[in-house]
Amino acid sequence: MSVVGLDLGLQNSVIAAAGRGGVDVILNGNSNRLNPTMVNFDESRKMGEQVSGSTPVSKFKTTIKYMKRLVGLAFDDPRAKKEMEKVPYQCVPITHASGGPPSIAVKVFFNGEDKILPVEQVLGMMVHHMGMVAAKKAAEESGIRGADNIKKLIPQDWVIAIPPYYTDAQRRAVLSGCEIVGITGVQRLMHENTATALAYGIFKDIRKEFTKENPTNVMFIDMGASAYTVTIAVFEPGKLIIKSANFDEDLGGRDFDQAIANWLADKFSEKFKNKLSGDPKTKPKVMLKLLDAAEKAKKTLSPQGVKEASINLECLMDDLDFNVMLSSSEYEALCTPLLAKLEGPVQKCLEEAKLTSKDLAAVEIVGGSTRIGFVKKKLMEILNVNNLSTTMNADESVARGAALQSA
Ligand code: ATP
Repeated sequence: MSVVGLDLGLQNSVIAAAGRGGVDVILNGNSNRLNPTMVNFDESRKMGEQVSGSTPVSKFKTTIKYMKRLVGLAFDDPRAKKEMEKVPYQCVPITHASGGPPSIAVKVFFNGEDKILPVEQVLGMMVHHMGMVAAKKAAEESGIRGADNIKKLIPQDWVIAIPPYYTDAQRRAVLSGCEIVGITGVQRLMHENTATALAYGIFKDIRKEFTKENPTNVMFIDMGASAYTVTIAVFEPGKLIIKSANFDEDLGGRDFDQAIANWLADKFSEKFKNKLSGDPKTKPKVMLKLLDAAEKAKKTLSPQGVKEASINLECLMDDLDFNVMLSSSEYEALCTPLLAKLEGPVQKCLEEAKLTSKDLAAVEIVGGSTRIGFVKKKLMEILNVNNLSTTMNADESVARGAALQSA
């Protein structure tokens, strides 16, 4: 297996390999390109798409997600505290023989016993799972059989993409998580935004689309599940320079889901105020069901022109069903505070690069949350442009760039 590039997203992980013919995203056993970044500990351990259907809701105490935002942080770090409030499983401090502040571990009931696992180890398990996705695909293509033989096909060399806001401790924790599970060939950790810029420019460069006289300035806007990053890259023949990068670590698709879920919880409480045994917002399973429904409604309302989404939840709480319509205007109003956060990183990036939006050859949007219609509209207003470019695959640009870096 050649060198692989891995995008370990908060919600979705993607693995790609670069070869002579270009770069390919490796499909998992269900022929899907995106793999949910989660690990479920039960009688057996399941990862990615093996964690199926309602499991993340019904087994929320043993389904670990959001590792990306916990790894490498001290237990007492305010960022960790904020993140731990968002997860429905139990986090505990873990001390190290080498000293230093306690870091974060998760407490799960697995194989009939309580287990405390450092969060970097759980992250490592997800990396290993992605290695198995690649190994199984390689085995299928070459007719190799048998679990031990397939394991031998786990890639030896990796480039793993990390967010630009990671500290040294977070970078080290990613590497240590990989080592714990036997992934020792990580050649490089690469910033996600640099990976996207590389994926954009490398083939254009080969086709000689860049000139030294007129360097090409491109803004990349990435909004995934948890973070928003704006980057300006300048392309010249054989050269990619990151001129500026700014981010908001707390702006992503999950914040839009949360805004809708809170609205749903309030509507539900209002409708059934005399029948409820408690506040739905204090019940993890109810909130997870609402977040799931909120994400579906959000996706329904993304394309411009869709006026409303129907939300139907059976037995949401106390055996009560809940059916409600969310209009696009109500949804946009709920998200106004989130939209207000889009401008800062864009303006800072332009200032730091000493450019205006007129100097940009393109504004490329990537990341699942840039599909939200009013996010695109707001970005166009901020930049005073008539369109945003979507020439890159919004879900795959990071993995592709990481794979290309390794080629
Ligand atoms: P991060 O970049 O924070 O690590 P990630 O890489 O897992 O997260 P992506 O896979 O780029 O994130 O995007 C996932 C997010 O995009 C989720 O919040 C998801 O709900 C959202 N999303 C995906 N498709 C759509 C759509 N059609 N409309 C609105 N949001 C969408």
